[in-house]
Amino acid sequence: MNDQPTPMMAQYLAIRDANPGALLFYRMGDFYEMFFDDAVQAAAALDIALTKRGTHQGEPIPMCGVPVHAAESYLLTLIRKGFRVAIAEQMEDPAEAKKRGSKSVVARDVVRLVTPGTLTEESLLEARRHNFLAAFSQVRGESALAWVDISTGAFQVMECPVSRLSPELARLAPRELLAADGAGLDELAADAGAALTDLHASAFDSTAAQRRLCQLYGVETLDGFGTFTRPELSAMGAIVDYLDMTQRGKLPLLRPPSRERMGGAMQIDAATRRNLELTQALSGGRLLERRISAPSRDLHLIHARQQAVADLVEDPRLSADLREALARVPDMDRALSRLALERGGPRDLAAIRAGLTQGAAIAAILPDDAAQVLRESASDLTGHDELIDLLDDALVAEPPLLARDGGFVAPGYDEDLDQTRRLRDEGRGVIAGMQADYADKAGVSSLKIKHNNVLGYFIETTATHAERMMKPPLSEIFIHRQTTANQIRFTTVELSELETRILNARDRALEIERRIFDRLRTALLEKSAQIGQAARALAEIDLASGFADIASGEGWTRPRVGDSRAFIVEGGRHPVVERALKRQSESFVANDCELTEGETPAIWLLTGPNMAGKSTFLRQNALIAVLAQAGAFVPARRAHIGMVSQLFSRVGAADDLARGRSTFMVEMVETAAILNQADDHALVILDEIGRGTATWDGLSIAWAVMEHLHEVNRCRALFATHYHEMTALTARLDGVENATVAVREWEGDVIFLHEVRKGAADRSYGVQVARLAGLPASVVERAREVLDALESGEREGAAKPAALIDDLPLFRAAPPAAAPAVSGKSPLDERLRDVHPDTLSPREALDLIYELKALG
Ligand code: ADP
Repeated sequence: MNDQPTPMMAQYLAIRDANPGALLFYRMGDFYEMFFDDAVQAAAALDIALTKRGTHQGEPIPMCGVPVHAAESYLLTLIRKGFRVAIAEQMEDPAEAKKRGSKSVVARDVVRLVTPGTLTEESLLEARRHNFLAAFSQVRGESALAWVDISTGAFQVMECPVSRLSPELARLAPRELLAADGAGLDELAADAGAALTDLHASAFDSTAAQRRLCQLYGVETLDGFGTFTRPELSAMGAIVDYLDMTQRGKLPLLRPPSRERMGGAMQIDAATRRNLELTQALSGGRLLERRISAPSRDLHLIHARQQAVADLVEDPRLSADLREALARVPDMDRALSRLALERGGPRDLAAIRAGLTQGAAIAAILPDDAAQVLRESASDLTGHDELIDLLDDALVAEPPLLARDGGFVAPGYDEDLDQTRRLRDEGRGVIAGMQADYADKAGVSSLKIKHNNVLGYFIETTATHAERMMKPPLSEIFIHRQTTANQIRFTTVELSELETRILNARDRALEIERRIFDRLRTALLEKSAQIGQAARALAEIDLASGFADIASGEGWTRPRVGDSRAFIVEGGRHPVVERALKRQSESFVANDCELTEGETPAIWLLTGPNMAGKSTFLRQNALIAVLAQAGAFVPARRAHIGMVSQLFSRVGAADDLARGRSTFMVEMVETAAILNQADDHALVILDEIGRGTATWDGLSIAWAVMEHLHEVNRCRALFATHYHEMTALTARLDGVENATVAVREWEGDVIFLHEVRKGAADRSYGVQVARLAGLPASVVERAREVLDALESGEREGAAKPAALIDDLPLFRAAPPAAAPAVSGKSPLDERLRDVHPDTLSPREALDLIYELKALG
């Protein structure tokens, strides 16, 4: 048995060991092959066949592979499943390796490490959504978060205390988070849905970072971009370092970093973002995603953005024209980024041409008196004529995907290329002319020029005619190549030269096109800042027109946004629920919400049965606040929103069992975060706090939370509960008002009116709702009994519900003919009163059952 790996396997192992932590895609001809454990894992993850190839140390080597042409979709699957993939390409033509000797292996090296945060392939990215790579750094008690979208080059950084990390990650939703080894961010990253990548602490060195950044931007100092703290430098440096590592030195085009101000945006915590399904409520591009993930707190900015939307709402004609033009705008940011990474092709050049051309057209249709935001955008869209002309002249209308296939440079752009192509395409014509010429010279009219794979081009004639050609003076021109049974074949110096030229013409044309591509690419990258600005301007106009479109289509209105603490919504609706109802031809009941303006906190305590519409009401008001500060119109008849600094919510009871936390624990953790952070400009939405525990625990917690919001946070809040006892709180807390979602009772059933009114609900109708849900009649009947007993007990001022329950008759599966009268205490009752199930051991419980049995 030979223990020595083959030369190829030795190369494989060396490359694999140099790239730990990643699956190795090892290029072999038309396939990327995986071996050993990589193969086992990948075959399972991709559901492809696992085979064997050769042996290593006496064991067969597991192998699987994916075809190169279909590699992208496999890559996507692997990345989604949490793998990182190192791509090792053949760095030379296999023929080169052969020349070195039969045993020699083709040189291979890793050209790229594919990770969730460093994707650039169009097919792997979600269209028009951000794909952020983030880095969190801590330096001596201060910390910062930097993030980049390498598919667009946007690079940002902000100071970020550890306590703010979770909400910021929720806002940005990065695909990958870089942190120093041992930073302990596993849970936070998992919460935000980001893959965590631990880097060695040296990657976060702030001094090295400064050097690296200066080098990247070719500047002596970073002061021109702003003043950065050490943790900020460190976080940015880690990103640049990581990109350098994963992209193997081909750094993406990164825009100069910009600092995001804390407090510049409404803070929205992770849970709220999930609960409100913000981005699902509307659909649109990256800018929309960013803006509604972080609505502004800058009044001036909000008003300017509203004005742009208002302009377009008032001019439906202009709005329609814009939308039509915008629909033809490709994703310029990503095209530019791929070009910078040397992963771009002719279509990326064409995308920029189309983007700038449409941009100029859009600028031209925007009137001079348009809103400021639109005017500014229009000015970023003008002045690109030189670039547009260059691309127009150079590119064909619909270029192919890959530069290496050629055929993208327009005829007439480059004379040398035109000639070369002519030679290539018209080769046959040239040869035909030559054939006539030789027939003439040789005096053989049947002479032919032919082509085969062995000889290439050759002159062919019959043996009889050939005789003269083999003698001077003709033999000085015709060189004998081959004699077959009937034919003699010749060539000439001229013919073989022509042949070489024809055969080379194709390669030469490709080479010229490649040079032109590089030139165009360089020209675009030199203008990348302006192109980026144009792309942002288009996004801004797109957003305004999108908001205008939905406002006109669905009857939304412009909210008044101010500095106060007002929260007044008249006739508010939930856009998603409304849309769903519309599909079933049902209509949505619009509702008002007025959290009184003034010094006192303003809280609505909302009661009403399940299914009445409490959650919908809560969410719609949160959405309206978000939309208002995003500069959009809102789904309401009228709205006046005093700036919301933070939006918190605790709704639903999403299980988090995967992480071993009970529903109740999750609820309490989220509630704690709210109570610890909400300031007096916050808007807090709490739905059914305390539901995950026993009634009296739950009520007590809800009660105390409400008092804390009122006394300490002093914020605006909507608080939905099914604990009717809480309605008594309004008597003690000035800032709390009762509201209820109205229902009507009709022949024992409830009818949901979905109408929110001031005042407390008289009862919760839980039993009726349970009946609607199809609970067995015996259970519903029994529930009524228990409820009656509890309610009458409450009226009579009974001290403990436990006592009331003791007085209830026992449950019976079949509906009783007549409810048995509440009798006096039996010995069984007496005994049960002293039983505390929580404190019983299984053994004691068993003994107790025997004891009770004896009593009964
Ligand atoms: P709750 O939180 O009180 O249990 P939901 O808010 O989940 O109730 O609403 C239950 C259902 O009632 C929703 O799915 C929706 O179909 C309907 N609904 C809620 N609000 C309204 C409304 N304002 N107008 C019409 N239907 C509504």
